[in-house]
Amino acid sequence: MSKKKEIMGRCDAVQEKPIDYDWSEGYPEKWEYWEASECPECGKILVGAGEVECDKAGCDGTVYNEGPMMNYYYPLPGLEDPTEAAKKLSDTCLCIVQIDGEYGLALTGGGMDLSWEICAAFIQLGYFPPVHFAGNLPKMAGKEWNKDTRTIIEWCKESVKIASSWVLRDLERVTEIETWLKENKKKNDNKKTAKVGPTG
Ligand SMILES: [Zn+2]
Repeated sequence: MSKKKEIMGRCDAVQEKPIDYDWSEGYPEKWEYWEASECPECGKILVGAGEVECDKAGCDGTVYNEGPMMNYYYPLPGLEDPTEAAKKLSDTCLCIVQIDGEYGLALTGGGMDLSWEICAAFIQLGYFPPVHFAGNLPKMAGKEWNKDTRTIIEWCKESVKIASSWVLRDLERVTEIETWLKENKKKNDNKKTAKVGPTG
C-alpha cells in the first residue's frame, strides 16, 4: 500500500503577516542583517553585511551584500542560526534580518510580486509559508509545473490546510459557547418556573 509522503515542516509562521519597517535608519543599533552571496572568483558562499572578503585561502574575491530593500519583513518565529539560514538563501532575493531580537526574512530586491520567492525562502528554512503568501500565489508568465513549483505548491497547500484546521477549531469553540449559553438559559428558566410554583 502506498502512503503519501508527509511533509515535515514547522507551523509557527503559518499565520504571520508582513510587518512594515523602515530600513533607512537605526542600523546597526536597532536592526541587523545576514545576507549571502557567491564569491565571484571561487564560488564560496559568503555571509555578512556590506562588503565581505572571501576567506578562502588564496582567493581575493569580494561581494557586496546590500541588505533589505523593500520596507517589510516577514517574521521567522524561533529561528536560531541567522548565518546558517542566510547561507540557505544565497541564490534568492531574500536575507535574514533581526529587529528587537526577533528574526525575519526581508527582500533584497523588488519591483514585482515576489510571493513565489518568499514562499520558497520559508520552505528552504523548513517553515510552512504564511497563508498570506501561500494562499495568494500569482499566475506568472514563465512559471510551469516542475520540481520546484511542485514543492512550493505542496508546502503551500499544507500551510493553508493547517490554517483552515485552526479556523475550524475556532468554529467548534464558538459553537461550544453557544451551546453552553443556551443550556444555562434553559436551567435558569426552569428555576424561575419552579419558584413560581403551582398556582391554584
Ligand atoms: Zn573566493
